[in-house]
Amino acid sequence: MPTPLTHSVVGYLVVKSVEIGKDTKRFIVWSVFFSTLPDIDFITSIVCKNPFSPLHHRGAFHSLGAVFVLFIILKSLKLQDKLLYTLLYSLHIIMDFMSKDLYFPYGIMLLWPFSNQYYQGFPLFMGVPYKSDSLKPGSFIFPVIYNVIIVIVIYLLANLLLKGFFYYEKQKKG
Ligand SMILES: [Zn+2]
Repeated sequence: MPTPLTHSVVGYLVVKSVEIGKDTKRFIVWSVFFSTLPDIDFITSIVCKNPFSPLHHRGAFHSLGAVFVLFIILKSLKLQDKLLYTLLYSLHIIMDFMSKDLYFPYGIMLLWPFSNQYYQGFPLFMGVPYKSDSLKPGSFIFPVIYNVIIVIVIYLLANLLLKGFFYYEKQKKG
């Protein structure tokens, strides 16, 4: 799984792309919050040790069901930018889905509440050790740097593609 740092970098980069005319500081704080929110299950998994319980880390909070519930809550709170915050929460889930997992059960509980099975996609991101028995000094530094670099490369490529697209659209109109 990518670390909260990697998820925060994603939140920050997405917000930097859409921030025009916003209360930037507050906007960035909320975006980093929603980008890291699924990992709140670190707390529930301290209490719940069963890996097949929805309360375990990468369980229900890392599912499409949670995305839906979050959107309904944000909508009922009439929170501005609910779509963006739901997108950031979803990006966290996609990134964890596309990570090499170091701990059983591998992957995330993607289809909760319909299924408690774990699913793992193509491992684009490196797994980061976080349990004390596999934690050696410096063992998480390389994966963290690697994951942040992958995020920045994707961001730059997406930016380039978008700029190319808008340039093409402008040429077509002009
Ligand atoms: Zn996560």
